Amino acid sequence: MASSDGNGLGTQRPVITRFAPSPTGFLHIGNARTGLFSWLYARHLGGKALLRIEDTDKKRSTQEAIDVILDGLDWLGLEFDGETVFQSERADRHAEVAQKLLDAGKAYKCFATTEELSEMREQQRAAKQPIRYDGRWRDRDPVEAPEGAEFTIRIKTPEGGETIIEDAVQGRVKVDNREIDDFILLRADGTPTYMLAVVVDDMDMGCTHIIRGDDHLNNAFRQMQVIEAMQGVEDGWERPVYAHVPLIHGNDGAKLSKRHGALSTLAYRDMGYLPEAMKAYLLRLGWSHGDQEIFTEDEAIALFDIGGINKAPARLDLEKLGQINAHFIRLADDERLFSLLKPLLEAEAPLTEAETARIRAALPGMKDRGTTLPELAAAFAFLRDIRPIQMNKKARKSLSEEGLDRLVGLRDELQQLRQWTAETISHVISSYCADRDLSMGQVGQPLRAALTGGLPAPDIAPVLEWLGKDETLGRIEDQTALDRD
Ligand code: GLU
Repeated sequence: MASSDGNGLGTQRPVITRFAPSPTGFLHIGNARTGLFSWLYARHLGGKALLRIEDTDKKRSTQEAIDVILDGLDWLGLEFDGETVFQSERADRHAEVAQKLLDAGKAYKCFATTEELSEMREQQRAAKQPIRYDGRWRDRDPVEAPEGAEFTIRIKTPEGGETIIEDAVQGRVKVDNREIDDFILLRADGTPTYMLAVVVDDMDMGCTHIIRGDDHLNNAFRQMQVIEAMQGVEDGWERPVYAHVPLIHGNDGAKLSKRHGALSTLAYRDMGYLPEAMKAYLLRLGWSHGDQEIFTEDEAIALFDIGGINKAPARLDLEKLGQINAHFIRLADDERLFSLLKPLLEAEAPLTEAETARIRAALPGMKDRGTTLPELAAAFAFLRDIRPIQMNKKARKSLSEEGLDRLVGLRDELQQLRQWTAETISHVISSYCADRDLSMGQVGQPLRAALTGGLPAPDIAPVLEWLGKDETLGRIEDQTALDRD
């Protein structure tokens, strides 16, 4: 249960990770990936994986936006432990921590007005200095403030030295404490800042490992100030292990943006990827274990470690996702696959009973016919075509006079077949070829043309079985009869 990663601090506690998405209207695949890493790491060590919705931005955090995240996680099959924490419900606790820091002399009231602060920044800009709060109320007595003046609560950060993080992915990273200004914990209206809320929640949730995007690395230096300031004030404020995961880039190496394709996890569901494929793909996107490319969930849980997270940004590669998806489609249970395909198959017209029977029969042998569900659904079209079926150019070519003659002969033989299975059919075709000294191709090509309109099918006998005897003979008849007209 105990962790062996990171900086050696707090490593004897049971592992607790958290995933803390903000409801922005969709679940970004980059976020889904860090969510997956956090979840896997906890599962790997038998710890807990917690979920916190960072819904403090009231304008964006609609119920709909929250549901989109929950649906995305649900689709991926990432079930988190315990109750979901909603950050907005914890504002009182955030304010309490700010007050405690104030009482302990580790934070102070800042009465600087908005105008004053923008003037300060203006001057810093003009003098080409870094823009940061200059600590003007750090040592001032609050009695100097005008009666009833509004104030913020700011943390008192160390004036010298450096803050070091032994990041489990990035290695040792440090910052000169002079670069960290006395940032705001509590706004004038009493609401907590994001910087305060995140760290209070992380500590209250007992998080031992913070696995998140490396765009939060700078925040970690600030969050650490709050942790350290609280250490003498309340118990339980132990430094977590930080693991800042490099972001995902597009295939051109640039930061992932809309032009690289879908950014939303659920968009991949809608494009016809299976959740287990998406999960296996996201896992490999920035994590590796030897040369293995595809991991089942159990393997991932058994093998996932922070040490396998790559330091360089991963590149989104839709071709690879397609390959992984094809792999999982082949593994998928027939019933499940059929129910996923059904809405796609019925987009234009409901399936008839006969079509359903044919598609169900064909499904086990057709699973390698698509890298996505819509592609696979399209591959079943020939089983639904209305006679006489449409031919493509190549098919028409193989239905030459010779080809049709062979079909006429074969049809007569098939007609007599009582037991209609791929095996018996295959036997009929082989002996028909052997008797006439024909190659399989010489018969198979016109047959395939007549039955599928030209669809590639490696094995023709099962196609006849799926179509059934009447439909098969009918389709052959359509071609041979048309020719005679
Ligand atoms: N809510 C933040 C986000 O969605 C993550 C905060 C964190 O992981 O600390 O980017």
